[in-house]
Amino acid sequence: MFEVKDIKETALIENPIIERMLKYNHEQLLFCNDSATGLKAIIAVHNTTLGPALGGTRMWAYNNELEALNDVLRLSRGMTYKNAISGLNLGGGKAVIIGNARTDKSEALMRRFGKFVNSLGGKYITAEDVGISTSDMSWVNMETNHVVGLPGKSGDPSPVTAYGVYMGMKAAAKLQFGSDSLTGKKVAVQGVGHVGEYLVKYLAKEGAQVFISDIHEEMLTRVAAEYGAKVVGINDIYSIDMDIYAPCALGATVNDETLAQLKCSIIAGAANNQLKDEQIHGQIVRDKGIMYVPDFMINAGGVINCYAEVKSFTAQWAMTKAEEIYNRTLSIITRSKESNVPTYKIANTMAEERIAAIGNIKLPM
Ligand code: NAD
Repeated sequence: MFEVKDIKETALIENPIIERMLKYNHEQLLFCNDSATGLKAIIAVHNTTLGPALGGTRMWAYNNELEALNDVLRLSRGMTYKNAISGLNLGGGKAVIIGNARTDKSEALMRRFGKFVNSLGGKYITAEDVGISTSDMSWVNMETNHVVGLPGKSGDPSPVTAYGVYMGMKAAAKLQFGSDSLTGKKVAVQGVGHVGEYLVKYLAKEGAQVFISDIHEEMLTRVAAEYGAKVVGINDIYSIDMDIYAPCALGATVNDETLAQLKCSIIAGAANNQLKDEQIHGQIVRDKGIMYVPDFMINAGGVINCYAEVKSFTAQWAMTKAEEIYNRTLSIITRSKESNVPTYKIANTMAEERIAAIGNIKLPM
């Protein structure tokens, strides 16, 4: 049901949309165009077995439509897995707006986008992603109620995301070092933005030795001074003597070049798509004896926070739910060890198993 189908290159050229949907098993795509506001957007609903598809809206100056289409298909599928493994009654979806978030955004454009979201009747719930702020979502909310991450509601998801990452990191430490204490452990946090800074705060409080890197000099200096972290260079972060690598900036930082340098025993961070190639690098980390905590599972605190807003649950509920990442990490790593299968594969299977099991429930007549 969820396997990526092997679609022939010629089919993708002849039918670039439907064949791509078939490849990843998407339910629905909505192409949005409005010349008055300049809106060009794609909303992708990957799977709604568990509930309405929730996933943020990204605004990005894609080079072409195919790039935007590939991005929205890949990201929406990822949300299906993230929501499923986190025990949320949500399916996976995502939206992309093609344009420059700094220069092309307007109230009219965001409200027009809100109307398109509304036309799906609640099948898709949107939120912020790259290039979109809470105030943009307020405009979307003028046209639809199917939106979360609004000002004054669940707010910034980063503290919950960081807490979940911290929980997953501790669980991995328990299995790798025999104790979940991070006191004295050397942790390299790449990127001290929204999530990274909160993570550094938890680590410093527990007495870990924290090393940080960021391209933003001001942020780096401030975070280093505030939490007593040691600054390392952008490219030096991979080769320093460390126990845990926590990627909290970019995707694909676990690749051939960095794996030749990384001396860590655990990879546990907030960034999405950490493994450059899931199959290749997921296997290499395993062969090297590094415990990789699957990104979409460990960084689910943000979507958990959004779900709390959908269901009108409290902020405390979101934190307690994010705490489950600790036990989930234990069970993924244990299953991986027992079956000799890389952790990313175990996490994918667990998500698929839940979707299949819930999809099979037959209500009594
Ligand atoms: P952010 O933009 O606030 O922070 C990212 C930081 O990384 C910035 O300070 C940036 O300067 C820095 N950075 C960029 N390139 C870098 C490089 N080459 N080396 C070192 N630092 C670099 O983003 P965020 O909200 O903190 O999210 C961090 C990561 O976690 C992203 O990959 C995001 O997709 C993912 N994530 C975030 C959340 C959330 O709740 N915010 C939830 C799930 C996943």
